[in-house]
Amino acid sequence: MSGAQEATVLLTNVRPWGGAASDILIEGGVIAAVEPHDPARPAPAPAPADGETIDGRGLLALPGLVNAHAHLDKSWWGREWVPYGGEATTQGRIAHERAHRDELGIPSPDSTLQLLRALVAQGTTAFRSHVDVDLGVGLRGIAVVREAVAALGVPVALEIVAFPQDGVLRRPGVLELLDRAAAEGADHIGGLDPALIDRDPVGQLDALFEIADRRGVGLDIHLHEGGELGAFEYDLILERTRALGLAGRVNVAHGFAIGDLPPARQRALVEELREAGVSITTVAPINASRLPLADLRAAGVPVGLGTDGIRDLWGPYGDGDLLRLATRLAQLSGARRDEELTDVVRLATSDAAGFVGRPVHDLVAGAPADVVLVDAQNVPEALVLAPERELVLAAGVRVV
Ligand SMILES: [Zn+2]
Repeated sequence: MSGAQEATVLLTNVRPWGGAASDILIEGGVIAAVEPHDPARPAPAPAPADGETIDGRGLLALPGLVNAHAHLDKSWWGREWVPYGGEATTQGRIAHERAHRDELGIPSPDSTLQLLRALVAQGTTAFRSHVDVDLGVGLRGIAVVREAVAALGVPVALEIVAFPQDGVLRRPGVLELLDRAAAEGADHIGGLDPALIDRDPVGQLDALFEIADRRGVGLDIHLHEGGELGAFEYDLILERTRALGLAGRVNVAHGFAIGDLPPARQRALVEELREAGVSITTVAPINASRLPLADLRAAGVPVGLGTDGIRDLWGPYGDGDLLRLATRLAQLSGARRDEELTDVVRLATSDAAGFVGRPVHDLVAGAPADVVLVDAQNVPEALVLAPERELVLAAGVRVV
Protein backbone atom coordinates (compact mmCIF):
# COMPACT_ATOMS: atom_id res chain seq x y z
CA MET A 1 0.00 0.00 0.00
CA SER A 2 1.52 3.26 -1.06
CA GLY A 3 0.78 6.74 -2.25
CA ALA A 4 -0.75 9.73 -0.58
CA GLN A 5 -4.27 11.05 -0.69
CA GLU A 6 -3.01 14.51 -1.62
CA ALA A 7 -1.21 13.33 -4.75
CA THR A 8 -2.43 13.82 -8.30
CA VAL A 9 -2.96 10.48 -10.00
CA LEU A 10 -3.64 9.92 -13.69
CA LEU A 11 -5.20 6.52 -14.32
CA THR A 12 -5.00 6.03 -18.06
CA ASN A 13 -6.69 3.68 -20.50
CA VAL A 14 -9.39 2.09 -18.37
CA ARG A 15 -12.97 1.20 -19.35
CA PRO A 16 -15.41 2.55 -16.72
CA TRP A 17 -18.36 0.14 -16.47
CA GLY A 18 -17.02 -1.59 -19.59
CA GLY A 19 -17.44 1.54 -21.74
CA ALA A 20 -14.96 3.34 -23.96
CA ALA A 21 -11.28 3.66 -22.98
CA SER A 22 -10.94 6.62 -20.64
CA ASP A 23 -8.46 8.48 -18.48
CA ILE A 24 -9.39 9.22 -14.87
CA LEU A 25 -7.72 12.22 -13.27
CA ILE A 26 -7.63 12.10 -9.47
CA GLU A 27 -6.83 15.07 -7.24
CA GLY A 28 -6.86 15.07 -3.47
CA GLY A 29 -8.46 11.63 -3.30
CA VAL A 30 -11.39 12.70 -5.49
CA ILE A 31 -12.11 12.03 -9.16
CA ALA A 32 -11.51 15.37 -10.89
CA ALA A 33 -12.35 14.28 -14.43
CA VAL A 34 -13.14 11.26 -16.58
CA GLU A 35 -12.20 11.89 -20.21
CA PRO A 36 -11.74 9.86 -23.39
CA HIS A 37 -8.40 8.07 -23.38
CA ASP A 38 -5.64 10.18 -24.94
CA PRO A 39 -2.22 8.49 -25.18
CA ALA A 40 -0.66 11.96 -25.57
CA ARG A 41 -2.15 13.29 -22.33
CA PRO A 42 0.61 14.90 -20.25
CA ALA A 43 1.50 13.03 -17.07
CA PRO A 44 1.02 14.82 -13.75
CA ALA A 45 4.20 16.39 -12.36
CA PRO A 46 6.37 13.87 -10.49
CA ALA A 47 8.25 14.67 -7.26
CA PRO A 48 8.14 17.02 -5.45
CA ALA A 49 4.46 17.36 -6.48
CA ASP A 50 4.21 13.58 -6.09
CA GLY A 51 2.12 13.02 -9.21
CA GLU A 52 1.74 9.49 -10.52
CA THR A 53 0.58 7.95 -13.78
CA ILE A 54 -0.90 4.44 -13.72
CA ASP A 55 -1.36 2.52 -16.96
CA GLY A 56 -4.77 0.85 -16.79
CA ARG A 57 -3.96 -1.42 -19.78
CA GLY A 58 -7.51 -1.29 -21.08
CA LEU A 59 -8.88 -3.08 -18.01
CA LEU A 60 -12.50 -2.80 -16.88
CA ALA A 61 -13.01 -0.21 -14.14
CA LEU A 62 -15.66 -0.40 -11.42
CA PRO A 63 -16.22 1.77 -8.37
CA GLY A 64 -14.90 0.32 -5.09
CA LEU A 65 -17.07 -2.42 -3.62
CA VAL A 66 -19.26 -1.45 -0.66
CA ASN A 67 -19.66 -3.91 2.20
CA ALA A 68 -22.96 -2.72 3.66
CA HIS A 69 -23.12 -5.31 6.47
CA ALA A 70 -19.82 -6.34 8.03
CA HIS A 71 -18.81 -7.36 11.55
CA LEU A 72 -15.19 -6.19 11.54
CA ASP A 73 -14.76 -6.73 15.30
CA LYS A 74 -15.63 -10.43 15.46
CA SER A 75 -13.21 -12.26 13.18
CA TRP A 76 -10.32 -14.56 14.03
CA TRP A 77 -8.91 -13.96 10.53
CA GLY A 78 -5.15 -14.43 10.29
CA ARG A 79 -4.94 -16.65 13.37
CA GLU A 80 -4.83 -20.36 13.92
CA TRP A 81 -8.05 -22.05 12.74
CA VAL A 82 -10.87 -21.94 15.30
CA PRO A 83 -13.18 -25.00 15.07
CA TYR A 84 -16.94 -24.43 15.14
CA GLY A 85 -18.60 -25.13 18.47
CA GLY A 86 -21.82 -24.49 20.36
CA GLU A 87 -25.43 -24.62 19.22
CA ALA A 88 -26.56 -23.54 15.73
CA THR A 89 -29.40 -21.25 16.88
CA THR A 90 -29.12 -17.45 17.15
CA GLN A 91 -29.10 -17.67 20.95
CA GLY A 92 -26.62 -20.56 20.75
CA ARG A 93 -24.23 -18.48 18.64
CA ILE A 94 -24.55 -15.49 20.99
CA ALA A 95 -23.77 -17.67 24.02
CA HIS A 96 -20.84 -19.41 22.29
CA GLU A 97 -19.32 -16.10 21.23
CA ARG A 98 -19.60 -14.60 24.72
CA ALA A 99 -18.07 -17.75 26.25
CA HIS A 100 -15.02 -17.89 23.96
CA ARG A 101 -14.19 -14.46 22.57
CA ASP A 102 -12.00 -13.43 25.51
CA GLU A 103 -9.68 -16.45 25.18
CA LEU A 104 -9.18 -15.51 21.50
CA GLY A 105 -8.58 -11.87 22.35
CA ILE A 106 -11.64 -10.74 20.37
CA PRO A 107 -12.10 -7.88 19.68
CA SER A 108 -8.52 -7.01 18.80
CA PRO A 109 -7.08 -4.30 16.54
CA ASP A 110 -4.65 -6.84 15.10
CA SER A 111 -7.29 -9.35 13.89
CA THR A 112 -9.47 -6.54 12.56
CA LEU A 113 -6.49 -5.05 10.73
CA GLN A 114 -5.60 -8.39 9.13
CA LEU A 115 -9.21 -8.85 8.05
CA LEU A 116 -9.38 -5.31 6.66
CA ARG A 117 -6.20 -5.83 4.64
CA ALA A 118 -7.71 -8.90 3.01
CA LEU A 119 -11.02 -7.17 2.28
CA VAL A 120 -9.44 -4.04 0.84
CA ALA A 121 -7.12 -6.11 -1.37
CA GLN A 122 -10.28 -7.65 -2.86
CA GLY A 123 -11.59 -4.24 -3.81
CA THR A 124 -13.84 -3.27 -0.90
CA THR A 125 -13.21 0.39 -0.11
CA ALA A 126 -16.23 1.30 2.02
CA PHE A 127 -17.77 -0.47 5.00
CA ARG A 128 -20.79 -0.30 7.22
CA SER A 129 -19.74 -2.42 10.20
CA HIS A 130 -21.87 -3.55 13.06
CA VAL A 131 -19.73 -3.64 16.20
CA ASP A 132 -20.78 -5.50 19.34
CA VAL A 133 -21.78 -3.30 22.25
CA ASP A 134 -22.67 -5.26 25.37
CA LEU A 135 -22.14 -5.45 29.10
CA GLY A 136 -18.90 -7.43 28.60
CA VAL A 137 -17.00 -5.28 26.07
CA GLY A 138 -18.86 -2.01 26.58
CA LEU A 139 -17.84 0.31 23.74
CA ARG A 140 -14.32 -1.12 23.42
CA GLY A 141 -15.11 -2.87 20.12
CA ILE A 142 -15.87 0.46 18.44
CA ALA A 143 -12.50 1.84 19.54
CA VAL A 144 -10.80 -1.35 18.30
CA VAL A 145 -12.36 -1.08 14.83
CA ARG A 146 -11.49 2.62 14.56
CA GLU A 147 -7.93 1.88 15.65
CA ALA A 148 -7.58 -0.89 13.04
CA VAL A 149 -8.92 1.34 10.26
CA ALA A 150 -6.45 4.05 11.25
CA ALA A 151 -3.61 1.50 11.27
CA LEU A 152 -4.63 0.29 7.81
CA GLY A 153 -3.22 3.51 6.41
CA VAL A 154 -5.71 3.50 3.55
CA PRO A 155 -8.55 6.03 3.46
CA VAL A 156 -11.48 3.60 3.42
CA ALA A 157 -14.97 4.81 4.31
CA LEU A 158 -16.37 3.43 7.54
CA GLU A 159 -19.77 3.74 9.18
CA ILE A 160 -20.24 2.18 12.61
CA VAL A 161 -23.40 0.52 13.88
CA ALA A 162 -23.33 0.11 17.67
CA PHE A 163 -24.80 -3.37 17.75
CA PRO A 164 -26.44 -4.90 20.84
CA GLN A 165 -25.69 -8.50 19.82
CA ASP A 166 -26.50 -9.88 23.27
CA GLY A 167 -29.90 -8.20 23.54
CA VAL A 168 -31.25 -4.83 24.61
CA LEU A 169 -34.04 -4.90 27.19
CA ARG A 170 -32.99 -8.27 28.62
CA ARG A 171 -29.60 -6.78 29.51
CA PRO A 172 -30.16 -3.69 31.68
CA GLY A 173 -27.42 -1.18 30.93
CA VAL A 174 -27.22 -1.87 27.18
CA LEU A 175 -29.59 0.99 26.26
CA GLU A 176 -27.29 3.37 28.13
CA LEU A 177 -24.31 1.98 26.21
CA LEU A 178 -26.10 2.49 22.88
CA ASP A 179 -27.01 6.02 23.90
CA ARG A 180 -23.38 6.74 24.78
CA ALA A 181 -22.15 5.18 21.52
CA ALA A 182 -24.52 7.45 19.61
CA ALA A 183 -23.36 10.48 21.60
CA GLU A 184 -19.72 9.56 20.92
CA GLY A 185 -19.98 9.30 17.15
CA ALA A 186 -21.46 5.95 16.15
CA ASP A 187 -23.37 6.56 12.90
CA HIS A 188 -26.17 4.12 13.72
CA ILE A 189 -27.45 2.01 16.55
CA GLY A 190 -28.46 -1.57 15.96
CA GLY A 191 -31.11 -3.93 17.24
CA LEU A 192 -31.71 -7.66 17.13
CA ASP A 193 -34.73 -9.93 16.86
CA PRO A 194 -36.83 -7.93 19.31
CA ALA A 195 -39.28 -10.77 19.94
CA LEU A 196 -37.06 -13.84 20.25
CA ILE A 197 -34.16 -12.14 22.03
CA ASP A 198 -35.89 -9.54 24.22
CA ARG A 199 -39.43 -11.07 24.12
CA ASP A 200 -40.73 -7.52 23.80
CA PRO A 201 -40.75 -6.24 20.21
CA VAL A 202 -42.63 -3.02 20.96
CA GLY A 203 -40.44 -2.29 23.96
CA GLN A 204 -37.12 -2.87 22.17
CA LEU A 205 -38.09 -0.91 19.07
CA ASP A 206 -39.57 1.99 21.06
CA ALA A 207 -36.35 2.27 23.06
CA LEU A 208 -34.09 2.11 19.98
CA PHE A 209 -36.13 4.61 17.98
CA GLU A 210 -36.16 6.97 20.94
CA ILE A 211 -32.35 7.03 21.03
CA ALA A 212 -31.99 7.33 17.25
CA ASP A 213 -34.46 10.19 17.12
CA ARG A 214 -32.96 12.08 20.06
CA ARG A 215 -29.32 11.59 19.01
CA GLY A 216 -29.86 12.04 15.28
CA VAL A 217 -28.30 8.69 14.31
CA GLY A 218 -29.52 5.93 12.01
CA LEU A 219 -31.01 2.57 12.93
CA ASP A 220 -29.85 -0.74 11.46
CA ILE A 221 -31.81 -3.66 12.90
CA HIS A 222 -30.94 -7.36 12.50
CA LEU A 223 -34.23 -9.12 11.82
CA HIS A 224 -33.85 -12.88 11.45
CA GLU A 225 -37.38 -13.55 12.63
CA GLY A 226 -39.49 -14.95 9.80
CA GLY A 227 -43.13 -15.45 8.89
CA GLU A 228 -45.90 -13.54 10.61
CA LEU A 229 -43.72 -12.56 13.56
CA GLY A 230 -41.16 -10.93 11.29
CA ALA A 231 -43.91 -9.30 9.20
CA PHE A 232 -45.36 -7.81 12.40
CA GLU A 233 -41.93 -6.41 13.29
CA TYR A 234 -41.60 -4.87 9.82
CA ASP A 235 -44.90 -3.13 10.56
CA LEU A 236 -43.62 -1.84 13.90
CA ILE A 237 -40.44 -0.53 12.24
CA LEU A 238 -42.35 1.15 9.40
CA GLU A 239 -44.83 2.72 11.83
CA ARG A 240 -42.05 4.24 13.96
CA THR A 241 -40.01 5.38 10.96
CA ARG A 242 -43.02 7.30 9.63
CA ALA A 243 -44.06 8.69 13.01
CA LEU A 244 -40.58 10.09 13.74
CA GLY A 245 -39.84 11.20 10.19
CA LEU A 246 -36.74 8.98 9.93
CA ALA A 247 -37.06 8.22 6.21
CA GLY A 248 -33.65 7.30 4.76
CA ARG A 249 -32.18 6.54 8.19
CA VAL A 250 -33.58 3.10 8.97
CA ASN A 251 -32.30 -0.23 7.65
CA VAL A 252 -33.53 -3.77 8.15
CA ALA A 253 -30.69 -6.30 7.99
CA HIS A 254 -31.62 -9.77 6.67
CA GLY A 255 -35.37 -9.22 7.05
CA PHE A 256 -36.10 -12.80 5.95
CA ALA A 257 -39.82 -12.45 6.70
CA ILE A 258 -40.46 -10.53 3.49
CA GLY A 259 -39.47 -13.66 1.58
CA ASP A 260 -42.01 -15.73 3.52
CA LEU A 261 -45.03 -13.61 2.60
CA PRO A 262 -47.49 -14.51 -0.16
CA PRO A 263 -46.97 -12.43 -3.35
CA ALA A 264 -49.67 -9.80 -2.76
CA ARG A 265 -48.53 -9.02 0.78
CA GLN A 266 -44.92 -9.06 -0.35
CA ARG A 267 -45.65 -6.46 -3.01
CA ALA A 268 -47.53 -4.33 -0.47
CA LEU A 269 -44.59 -4.49 1.95
CA VAL A 270 -42.14 -3.49 -0.79
CA GLU A 271 -44.32 -0.47 -1.49
CA GLU A 272 -44.48 0.42 2.21
CA LEU A 273 -40.68 0.20 2.52
CA ARG A 274 -40.32 2.55 -0.45
CA GLU A 275 -42.85 5.00 0.90
CA ALA A 276 -41.41 5.01 4.45
CA GLY A 277 -37.79 5.24 3.22
CA VAL A 278 -36.57 2.02 4.84
CA SER A 279 -33.70 0.11 3.21
CA ILE A 280 -32.68 -3.55 3.39
CA THR A 281 -29.31 -5.24 3.56
CA THR A 282 -28.71 -8.85 2.62
CA VAL A 283 -25.76 -11.18 3.00
CA ALA A 284 -27.02 -13.46 0.19
CA PRO A 285 -27.63 -16.45 2.48
CA ILE A 286 -28.05 -19.78 0.73
CA ASN A 287 -30.40 -21.23 3.34
CA ALA A 288 -33.01 -18.53 3.97
CA SER A 289 -36.15 -17.19 2.26
CA ARG A 290 -35.31 -15.18 -0.86
CA LEU A 291 -35.66 -11.42 -0.87
CA PRO A 292 -37.86 -10.15 -3.71
CA LEU A 293 -34.76 -8.44 -5.09
CA ALA A 294 -36.12 -7.44 -8.49
CA ASP A 295 -39.27 -5.94 -6.94
CA LEU A 296 -37.28 -4.06 -4.29
CA ARG A 297 -34.91 -2.67 -6.93
CA ALA A 298 -37.73 -1.75 -9.31
CA ALA A 299 -39.50 0.09 -6.48
CA GLY A 300 -36.33 1.99 -5.62
CA VAL A 301 -35.88 0.49 -2.14
CA PRO A 302 -32.14 0.66 -1.40
CA VAL A 303 -30.69 -2.84 -1.03
CA GLY A 304 -27.15 -3.27 0.26
CA LEU A 305 -24.93 -6.36 0.16
CA GLY A 306 -22.60 -7.36 2.96
CA THR A 307 -20.45 -10.23 4.10
CA ASP A 308 -21.89 -10.48 7.62
CA GLY A 309 -19.29 -12.05 9.94
CA ILE A 310 -16.24 -13.66 8.34
CA ARG A 311 -14.51 -16.60 10.04
CA ASP A 312 -15.68 -15.84 13.53
CA LEU A 313 -17.32 -17.61 16.44
CA TRP A 314 -20.56 -17.65 14.44
CA GLY A 315 -19.09 -19.82 11.70
CA PRO A 316 -16.04 -20.76 9.64
CA TYR A 317 -17.15 -19.39 6.25
CA GLY A 318 -16.30 -16.26 4.30
CA ASP A 319 -13.39 -15.10 2.18
CA GLY A 320 -14.47 -11.46 2.22
CA ASP A 321 -14.69 -11.16 -1.57
CA LEU A 322 -17.74 -8.98 -2.08
CA LEU A 323 -17.66 -9.38 -5.86
CA ARG A 324 -17.87 -13.16 -5.46
CA LEU A 325 -20.69 -12.64 -2.95
CA ALA A 326 -22.44 -10.51 -5.59
CA THR A 327 -22.16 -13.51 -7.95
CA ARG A 328 -23.98 -15.57 -5.33
CA LEU A 329 -26.67 -12.93 -4.86
CA ALA A 330 -27.21 -12.84 -8.62
CA GLN A 331 -27.52 -16.62 -8.77
CA LEU A 332 -29.91 -16.75 -5.80
CA SER A 333 -32.02 -14.02 -7.38
CA GLY A 334 -32.26 -15.77 -10.73
CA ALA A 335 -30.40 -12.96 -12.53
CA ARG A 336 -29.28 -14.07 -16.02
CA ARG A 337 -29.73 -11.21 -18.47
CA ASP A 338 -26.91 -8.71 -18.89
CA GLU A 339 -28.95 -5.88 -17.40
CA GLU A 340 -29.84 -8.02 -14.36
CA LEU A 341 -26.19 -9.00 -13.81
CA THR A 342 -25.08 -5.38 -14.18
CA ASP A 343 -27.77 -4.30 -11.73
CA VAL A 344 -26.30 -6.59 -9.05
CA VAL A 345 -22.87 -5.00 -9.56
CA ARG A 346 -24.45 -1.55 -9.19
CA LEU A 347 -26.15 -2.73 -6.00
CA ALA A 348 -22.73 -3.74 -4.60
CA THR A 349 -20.97 -0.52 -5.71
CA SER A 350 -22.45 2.76 -6.91
CA ASP A 351 -26.00 2.20 -5.64
CA ALA A 352 -24.69 1.44 -2.12
CA ALA A 353 -23.41 4.99 -1.59
CA GLY A 354 -26.13 5.74 0.97
CA PHE A 355 -25.11 2.78 3.15
CA VAL A 356 -21.73 4.40 3.80
CA GLY A 357 -22.90 7.99 4.05
CA ARG A 358 -21.74 9.09 0.60
CA PRO A 359 -23.81 11.27 -1.71
CA VAL A 360 -22.03 9.72 -4.69
CA HIS A 361 -19.86 6.62 -5.11
CA ASP A 362 -19.18 6.07 -8.78
CA LEU A 363 -16.64 6.65 -11.54
CA VAL A 364 -17.68 10.26 -12.02
CA ALA A 365 -16.16 13.65 -11.27
CA GLY A 366 -16.69 14.64 -7.66
CA ALA A 367 -16.80 11.08 -6.30
CA PRO A 368 -14.17 9.65 -3.96
CA ALA A 369 -11.50 8.01 -6.15
CA ASP A 370 -12.34 4.42 -5.22
CA VAL A 371 -11.56 2.35 -8.31
CA VAL A 372 -11.23 -1.38 -8.94
CA LEU A 373 -9.70 -2.76 -12.15
CA VAL A 374 -10.41 -6.27 -13.37
CA ASP A 375 -9.66 -8.17 -16.56
CA ALA A 376 -13.15 -8.72 -17.99
CA GLN A 377 -14.90 -8.01 -21.29
CA ASN A 378 -17.81 -6.29 -19.62
CA VAL A 379 -19.64 -5.91 -16.30
CA PRO A 380 -21.66 -9.15 -16.61
CA GLU A 381 -18.44 -11.10 -17.13
CA ALA A 382 -16.81 -9.31 -14.19
CA LEU A 383 -19.75 -10.42 -12.02
CA VAL A 384 -19.76 -14.01 -13.23
CA LEU A 385 -15.98 -14.53 -13.04
CA ALA A 386 -15.18 -12.27 -10.06
CA PRO A 387 -11.63 -12.09 -11.48
CA GLU A 388 -8.53 -11.11 -9.55
CA ARG A 389 -8.43 -7.41 -8.64
CA GLU A 390 -5.62 -5.99 -10.79
CA LEU A 391 -5.66 -2.57 -9.12
CA VAL A 392 -7.54 -1.11 -6.18
CA LEU A 393 -7.54 2.59 -5.35
CA ALA A 394 -9.16 3.93 -2.18
CA ALA A 395 -9.52 7.72 -2.31
CA GLY A 396 -6.77 7.69 -4.92
CA VAL A 397 -4.40 5.65 -2.77
CA ARG A 398 -3.09 2.48 -4.38
CA VAL A 399 -3.96 -0.59 -2.31
CA VAL A 400 -3.17 -3.35 -4.84
ZN1 LIG B 1 -24.92 -9.38 11.01
